[in-house]
Amino acid sequence: MTELERKQDRAPVPSEWTYASAPEARDLVTLQDRYGHYVGGEWLEARETYTTISPATEEPLAEVGQATPEEVQAAVDAAREAYANGWSDVSPSERAKYLFRIARILQERSREFAVLESLNGGKPIKESRDVDLPLSAAHFFYYAGWADKLEYAFPNRKPRPIGVAGQIIPWNFPLLMLAWKIAPALAAGNTVVLKPAETTPLSALLFCDVLRQAELPPGVVNIVTGDGRTGAEIVKSDGVDKVAFTGSTDVGKAIQRELAGTGKKLTLELGGKAANIIFDDAALDQAVEGIINGIYFNQGHVCCAGSRLLVQESIYEPVVEKLKRRLTTLRVGDPLDKNTGVGAINSKQQLDKIQELVASGAEEGAEIYQPPCRLPEQGYWFAPTVFTNVAQSYRIAQEEIFGPVLSILTFRTPDEAVEKANNTPYGLSAGVWTEKGSRILWMAERLRAGVVWANTYNRFDPSSPFGGYKESGFGREGGRHGLEPYLDLT
Ligand code: NAP
Ligand code: MG
Repeated sequence: MTELERKQDRAPVPSEWTYASAPEARDLVTLQDRYGHYVGGEWLEARETYTTISPATEEPLAEVGQATPEEVQAAVDAAREAYANGWSDVSPSERAKYLFRIARILQERSREFAVLESLNGGKPIKESRDVDLPLSAAHFFYYAGWADKLEYAFPNRKPRPIGVAGQIIPWNFPLLMLAWKIAPALAAGNTVVLKPAETTPLSALLFCDVLRQAELPPGVVNIVTGDGRTGAEIVKSDGVDKVAFTGSTDVGKAIQRELAGTGKKLTLELGGKAANIIFDDAALDQAVEGIINGIYFNQGHVCCAGSRLLVQESIYEPVVEKLKRRLTTLRVGDPLDKNTGVGAINSKQQLDKIQELVASGAEEGAEIYQPPCRLPEQGYWFAPTVFTNVAQSYRIAQEEIFGPVLSILTFRTPDEAVEKANNTPYGLSAGVWTEKGSRILWMAERLRAGVVWANTYNRFDPSSPFGGYKESGFGREGGRHGLEPYLDLT
């Protein structure tokens, strides 16, 4: 760096940009006061309910069902019946048509869904509009294309559906995780019982209206809402042939124990503690954008978030300086404002967890940095946070925080970067920033991570398989690989 560049680099940050507010229209979504369970193509009145809220304001949005064991059983029965009486005989090209229809309807109604996703989950409308919705539709389009080509996907095998898939999803990408689960299951000819997360049930409930519009036969997709108890009932049910779960490693382990010896198929997509690795020959400004996107996208509620930043020692100072300056320009606030970059934390429970882990970081000796920003008084909020001076043994370097919190560590050589990156019980994703193609390949070969991004981060495509090693789970979602867990290939 020249002396001039060094000076420019230290130029003072413009104090605060003022933006006029640019709210997306909330009345694009019409909510019911009360929702039941979607079983056999009809709404089943819920016996027990709870209130779902907006995490940005704590305002109640609707009453939704807390499914009882009997209600879960009714959903599983409906899925079994739909499987036996028709869906498994629907010709593959007809199955594809339903999936294409769902994809197109999601595109047509994408603004409505984006608003609902931000309202119930707290994520910025910019993200639900530009990431969650386009990717959800793309997933249905992609798997629609496979439905009548399964024999080409698995040559010389006889791909057959499995039966009823029980699917349990988390709250960080409610509609997108639903799409990841339902699209391949239906393309392969199965029927489904799905449970959205307790805090974010509304987009899955609105999706039932998409199914009605698409005229999907009754019982092919059933949605029950509720907390972990409802999920446990789905896992236990004898009528379920395959379980697909995305969520925490602890619950994933419990499910694996429950299913051991039952012969049910299982895929687990669990947590992560990914390393985002910056070499000294990387384009630094782009890398800084990648770091920001890696950890502050969706408030860091991302299983593959780049939560451990590994910076080559020789560029540590400029990277940290650029990063801190970039942090001051992040706009935290109303998820429905189109200028918002960081929204609300999904729940009180998650906020408590973030606060506890951040406190442990400061206590263990790391240095905390948060840009000056005003957080709203109502709702659940956490300022974008960076920790420097982090040792590998600290909890903030070991445990998944699942919030907007970055831990920075350094390395000297590529070997050391690999060693540190792999020093975690997880193995979901990693990022590598360097100008050298050969180094990218060298690193990708050695990183124990399901996905390795090069000079980018958090990029998703339905044709690309996603999934973990070690405690991040097993099985792949997306791509041809994503069909396999939903097929009998023997
Ligand atoms: P979680 O409890 O594992 O939730 C995932 C899903 O499983 C939710 O639908 C949940 O219902 C359900 N569930 C809970 N207990 C269950 C059980 N015994 N049997 C079957 N299903 C059950 O995760 P969380 O409590 O929402 O979040 C805790 C931590 O998990 C986070 O802090 C984060 O570290 C990690 N996480 C990872 C991902 C990921 O994408 N890999 C996503 C979310 C969270 P409820 O909604 O009622 O809990
Ligand atoms: Mg939970």
